Amino acid sequence: KKKLHSSGLEHDDRLLGGLLSSQFDDDSCLSRYQAASYRKESPYRPSSYLTSRLRRYEALHKRCGPYTEPYNRTVANLRSGKKTEEDSDCNYLVWVSFSGLGNRILTLASAFLYALLTDRVLLIDRGVDMPDLFCEPFPEVSWLLPLDFPITDQFNSFNQESAECFGNMLKLSTNSSSSLSPYVYLHLVHDYNDHDKLFFCDQDQSFLQKVPWVIMKSDNYFIPSLFLMPSFEQELLALFPEKQTVFHFLGRYLFFPTNPIWGLITRYYEAYLAQADERIGIQVRVFDTRVGPFEYVLDQILACSLDNSLLPEINPNKSFVTYPGNQKSKAVLLTSLSSGYFEKIRDMYWEHPTVTGEVIEVFQPSHEGYQQTEKKMHHRKAWAEIYLLSLTDKLITSSWSTFGYVAQSLGGLKPWILYKPENETTPNPACTRAMSIEPCFHAPPFFDCRKRTGTDTGAVVPHVRHCEDMGWGLKLV
Ligand code: GDP
Repeated sequence: KKKLHSSGLEHDDRLLGGLLSSQFDDDSCLSRYQAASYRKESPYRPSSYLTSRLRRYEALHKRCGPYTEPYNRTVANLRSGKKTEEDSDCNYLVWVSFSGLGNRILTLASAFLYALLTDRVLLIDRGVDMPDLFCEPFPEVSWLLPLDFPITDQFNSFNQESAECFGNMLKLSTNSSSSLSPYVYLHLVHDYNDHDKLFFCDQDQSFLQKVPWVIMKSDNYFIPSLFLMPSFEQELLALFPEKQTVFHFLGRYLFFPTNPIWGLITRYYEAYLAQADERIGIQVRVFDTRVGPFEYVLDQILACSLDNSLLPEINPNKSFVTYPGNQKSKAVLLTSLSSGYFEKIRDMYWEHPTVTGEVIEVFQPSHEGYQQTEKKMHHRKAWAEIYLLSLTDKLITSSWSTFGYVAQSLGGLKPWILYKPENETTPNPACTRAMSIEPCFHAPPFFDCRKRTGTDTGAVVPHVRHCEDMGWGLKLV
């Protein structure tokens, strides 16, 4: 049997090939340097350009972050509503906490990359529990938006109709300069309109360049469309020569579970997963308003697992089989809001022997019933489960689910994606192998910025394609 991972590093690369800064103390956030010992070494290496740009960002963050002199100065301008005449040497991107956990993680990574590309300092709105879930990612200076930030109480009321909304300002302004505005609200939520979408056009980006404060609300992983913008393209290709590694690296750089959640993760891993010869993750997300479990979903999970040899068939005719030699064990980590699928699969492998002789253990950490927004432990468990899925060897995910995207990308896993069922019928085939480990952008623009006409943005460059699980979505491959 395999020894527990925590008893020693599987590999000695605790800074993940230079991705992480070495400047943190270990105890404040145990997961930061311990995570490496729970994972297989990633087959991907960060480019030296990426690591140097991250160090440069960290220096910028330290110089301009909360309560530094430039921060205090730009906040004072914001508070007084003073028009900004001179260029500020520190500009900011404020990420507004919004939507489910998977969505939040993906948009935050997108916001960070945009900040990196435009030399802005990323500050995050705490929402209900962001500091409870994530460690500080940048050394020395916090990424949390200070509680006395002047316009936080307006975040909830910002929408497409707001006077400060980017799309609205573009629509109404005759000259394309907003240099007089102390802040702009950027609406990149799935319901955004054609004017908001001009964010993805180089000529309209210039509108934002001199604005000291950009406040962003999004529920989407919008990075694939940044790769289609000529002004960012070269830089992005230099940062990520392997295009499908964008979230893999940004996620591992930014998102560290806080100590209480690291406790949830490591205790669970060591109790149920560490000893198995192989770990299979199955992420079940059913977008149905009725309470499950549904037979057609169970059939789909089993068809996908068996057809792709992720799990062995059972022998329904034998009640007892003796196998010679070493029996291999597979641990299945199933996550779902309901417990029905887990119970059925566990019972199936209890009631019948497998044809291969493998021992199948089935586990599900929680069954929270429904998505909850205000409960602390609910989000802690959700984050722990996403992370545990990312520690598996093979992964099955559900279509359309950002929860699954985060797990696959963090883990560097190309999942088998369960097709979205139509009319309560098991799709055939049940699932498909993902082209890449990247998340899907669910609401991309279909606009040719130069010709000012509609276009298929999934057919412009070979590395930005339509997603397996959502025909109109875009992903990096
Ligand atoms: P998405 O809706 O699947 O794209 O994922 P999100 O994470 O954005 O939102 C779904 C939310 O529902 C999660 O953040 C959790 O709060 C909850 N949820 C969904 N599936 C699970 C699950 O398998 N386990 C847990 N603990 N929570 C889940």
